[in-house]
Amino acid sequence: MKTLNKRVLVTGGAGFLGSHLCERLLEQGCDVLCVDNFYTATKDNIRHLLGHPHFELMRHDVTFPLYVEVDEIYNLACPASPIHYQSDPVQTTKTSVHGAINMLGLAKRTGARIFQASTSEVYGDPEVHPQGEGYWGRVNPIGPRACYDEGKRCAETLFFDYHRQHGLRIKVARIFNTYGPRMHPDDGRVVSNFIIQALRNEPITLYGDGSQSRAFCYVDDMIEGIVRLMEGPETVTGPINLGNPVEFSMRELAECVRELTGSNAPLIERPLPVDDPRQRRPDISLARELLAWEPRVQLVEGLRRTVEYFEALLRRGLA
Ligand code: NAD
Ligand code: UDP
Ligand code: UDP
Repeated sequence: MKTLNKRVLVTGGAGFLGSHLCERLLEQGCDVLCVDNFYTATKDNIRHLLGHPHFELMRHDVTFPLYVEVDEIYNLACPASPIHYQSDPVQTTKTSVHGAINMLGLAKRTGARIFQASTSEVYGDPEVHPQGEGYWGRVNPIGPRACYDEGKRCAETLFFDYHRQHGLRIKVARIFNTYGPRMHPDDGRVVSNFIIQALRNEPITLYGDGSQSRAFCYVDDMIEGIVRLMEGPETVTGPINLGNPVEFSMRELAECVRELTGSNAPLIERPLPVDDPRQRRPDISLARELLAWEPRVQLVEGLRRTVEYFEALLRRGLA
């Protein structure tokens, strides 16, 4: 029987980005099926959605086939922080590759439109700056980050081959560093690490000399970009960069977090992880042109909201 609401599957829906996306889709009146194996998430991010009449949660690992009836698929399942994706690298590659095959098979059978959460990591340690979608990247295929980078590259390949070979309606976004409330406090990413260290007045861990750069996008801006891409014209398949083009060094980020939290935590240098990209910043001309999208939330404002979130977690003893 046909329902009136659009039925949307969100894989990795209990994660940081996934939970915000589920919320947004419910606000739009969709029926949301959240699929997650809770590899890097708990129910905490989606607990408030569990009683919602249009929300359904399924514990499932996307490396196994999934037979459901949906109109749209957002494929976000994959550990995203270096410490998580490197702790079981074989599973990380399987999640990206087998997960993509299964979700594409599902899209092929149901005719669903399908979105892939790709990443700026497909550019590796880039020698082109800023990175535009035409740049093919510089990834070490056998390094410790390869399980993530190459897994995501292969997923892109599969998306474009299913598109060409089977006519699937695909949407591929290359997501650059995104931060905000519901980042996992222990997932080792720089924004959560720095904020928690600053709030606890513990040393802030700068990897290397802190001169490496990233450009940070606030989660609400990212979700808006993702939904615009999915809902935009079919001819806009991507890959399309989504991220905030304002670049900061990690030392600048640490100083900013210290200032915002009023913390006296000292900065300490730790070894730079192997293959850590030296600089990264998206060229978002394509997203501006094709989606009329660009980030609105400045780093200081986004960090302020994120600090509030982590302060509340610490007060409740949850971080
Ligand atoms: P996250 O770790 O918070 O969320 C990932 C979710 O996927 C978790 O809930 C996890 O339990 C789930 N998951 C992992 N393996 C799974 C499997 N085999 N089957 C089912 N579920 C599985 O990370 P996030 O930041 O929300 O990232 C979401 C997606 O966006 C990922 O695909 C990530 O690669 C991509 N991305 C994120 C960023 C970022 O800065 N946050 C940047 C680039 C790309
Ligand atoms: N698949 C799935 N759900 C579906 C349809 C397919 O999980 O609703 C999986 C199935 O396990 C298959 C994969 O998606 O291995 C790829 O499907 P496709 O039709 O492309 O390949 P085939 O079934 O011919 O191997
Ligand atoms: N980083 C850091 N201190 C930390 C965690 C990360 O200096 O406690 C650095 C890391 O070396 C990298 C940048 O911050 O250069 C972003 O790291 P993250 O893991 O957040 O994302 P990614 O490397 O995947 O962009």
